[in-house]
Amino acid sequence: MKAIEVKNLSFAYGQQKVLSDISFSIEEGEYVAILGPNGSGKSTLLRLLLGLLRPQKGQILLFGQEQGKFKNLNWIGYLPQRAVHFDQRFPATVEEIVGMYGSENLTWALEQVNLLEKRKELIGRLSGGQQQRALIARALCGKPKLLILDEPTSGVDPAAQEDFYKLLAHLHASLELSIILVSHDLAAVAREVERVICLNKKLFFHGSKEAFFSQEEFAHLYSYPVAWLKHSEEAGQ
Ligand code: ADP
Repeated sequence: MKAIEVKNLSFAYGQQKVLSDISFSIEEGEYVAILGPNGSGKSTLLRLLLGLLRPQKGQILLFGQEQGKFKNLNWIGYLPQRAVHFDQRFPATVEEIVGMYGSENLTWALEQVNLLEKRKELIGRLSGGQQQRALIARALCGKPKLLILDEPTSGVDPAAQEDFYKLLAHLHASLELSIILVSHDLAAVAREVERVICLNKKLFFHGSKEAFFSQEEFAHLYSYPVAWLKHSEEAGQ
């Protein structure tokens, strides 16, 4: 089944067109990156997928159902941008944060991210990487089929980023979780995902990662030298 099907989607904030006639689909179990420069409409697309905005034209199907009528909201876990920054004294424990939208699967979710032993600690006492894992656990509490992550590694140190991508790969494989990763980290995209959707108001590219990284046009979109990317891709293998 398709996890997501987007058909001829257009969206504008007032007069400002942000997405124009976008069509793509994501199969259940796929690991997909959404790439695009700043302001290209990535977050807007996520907000539309999550039902926080309504399409002005076109259609979004989630697991075969129209977005507006989709009832199984727990099938979609979401990690918003810049979510990881709890103050040291933030007065909530790991388990309170992780279970805040539903604690039925709390223990299981904490086990998935290897944080069970930290459950009673204040969230702000955890490292950035651990806080991020806690937020993944919160997204897992609804037993989602699809995880949507908006630039999840911004502000997380490189060692923790590596662990984080390992965790995503593990969840993708062991839970057959579909993942949509919005990221600027092209080296990580080259290493981790299966397919790439490239946006800049219009859909630039939708296909396998190999096809994406073998074309040269995308380098202009990012102003990165292609040689550097090829190198990162090889280094990541
Ligand atoms: P990205 O996530 O790729 O950086 P966004 O979807 O956040 O892009 O933004 C796309 C465009 O829409 C940008 O020009 C941005 O300024 C504009 N925009 C985003 N959110 C709003 C909003 N709530 N109201 C008006 N314009 C917005």
